[in-house]
Amino acid sequence: MPGTQAASTRKERIATRTRNPKWQNPPLRIEMSECINCDTCIRHCPPQFGAIFNHGIDVIILPELCSGCNKCIEPCPVDCIYPDPDWSPSPEDWWQEPLGPDDRYVAATARD
Ligand code: SF4
Ligand code: SF4
Repeated sequence: MPGTQAASTRKERIATRTRNPKWQNPPLRIEMSECINCDTCIRHCPPQFGAIFNHGIDVIILPELCSGCNKCIEPCPVDCIYPDPDWSPSPEDWWQEPLGPDDRYVAATARD
């Protein structure tokens, strides 16, 4: 049935800018005023989610791609990653990062 599989893969989530409705946990957000831009969290986000990016001088989590698996929380040296149950959609300019030239998660996953 068309639509029932939407957002079940990362590629589909990027195309539709939609979170997987099956995800129970809220997405996380990075408090930019506390983040020291060490990039550690980027390496700990599982490639099938691939939600964390460098964006200019900031490190960002796209909530539509974040499953709330919490694997990025413990490695953060300054504890500046927080649950964001009242999350807002990613700003338009954030979407240039997934599948862009610096999308390091693509190489780590199989097709789709
Ligand atoms: S909670 Fe999981 S999916 Fe979300 S940004 Fe952290 S590691 Fe990635
Ligand atoms: S691990 Fe923490 S301090 Fe480092 S880039 Fe990620 S959010 Fe910022």
